[in-house]
Amino acid sequence: MAVVAITADERAAFKRCRRAWDLGARTRRALEPVDTPAPIDDPAREALAVHYFPGMWAWDRAIVRPLVLKAAGAAAPFVERYVDWAAALDDFEPLRVEFDFDARVPDPGGDGDLAAPDGRAVHYQGRVNALVVDGDGAHWLLAHRFGPWTDADVLRLDEAAATAAWAWEQTFLDATVHGVLYNELTPEGRFRRTRLRLSRGAVAQAGLQLAREVAEMLAPELALYPTPGPYCPTCPFVAPCMTAQDGEDPEPLLALDFRPRPPEVLQEGRLGGATWGVGRGAMPARFAGDDRP
Ligand code: SF4
Repeated sequence: MAVVAITADERAAFKRCRRAWDLGARTRRALEPVDTPAPIDDPAREALAVHYFPGMWAWDRAIVRPLVLKAAGAAAPFVERYVDWAAALDDFEPLRVEFDFDARVPDPGGDGDLAAPDGRAVHYQGRVNALVVDGDGAHWLLAHRFGPWTDADVLRLDEAAATAAWAWEQTFLDATVHGVLYNELTPEGRFRRTRLRLSRGAVAQAGLQLAREVAEMLAPELALYPTPGPYCPTCPFVAPCMTAQDGEDPEPLLALDFRPRPPEVLQEGRLGGATWGVGRGAMPARFAGDDRP
């Protein structure tokens, strides 16, 4: 039986506006506008995955750099500046890159795991940019954030990272995550690294809070209402939402201008994807040059 998969994005959507979440989440109606473009690759993020690929970390950086810049494409100048900046800060060893976690969500009211009303298991799924180990043997999540710098208090309250740490520990039971290394990269090419330690209590609390919220998301009698906010102008459901607010039926509009979201496709050759290893094995052929040692 398929599981109910909750992601960080869909959890955030639920907390932002239940109406938009109900229409768009894969666990709900899973709709998207008919003109939604196909997802595009993020070459800078992919280049960082090559840069931090564990199987190449011990290689001469002069050999790795061309592979990183090849993956970066048009973003190569930006990524090259980052690589030069990060050289003095990367005092760790990467263990995984762009690796997925998949954790059973506990039952907030009992000792076992949460089950959906139809009996299916409930999983929290997501991806971390990298897991690294420092010189003291402590494990840290490395989280890339592209965009303007984030306020320090917002970073300290970042529930997605704390929940990822909890989920990582649930997925790999011998793991203990000591904190998060936030790697901020602005469009102008400014970079910042922030090290935030996570207490054991913070990691446990992240799992408990996730369990409470997911139980609420799955409640059969869940009330669905809109929560207008500054994000509404970019909401894909603004037209049917306004129709519903006028007391009219939005279903004809949803049938005309929206379609079911296509299933998520595993990207063949994605760094960290399940189609090839992330240890010290081979890297994808499309990044492999004749100059591999
Ligand atoms: S337009 Fe705003 S209130 Fe309406 S569904 Fe979208 S996010 Fe919610």
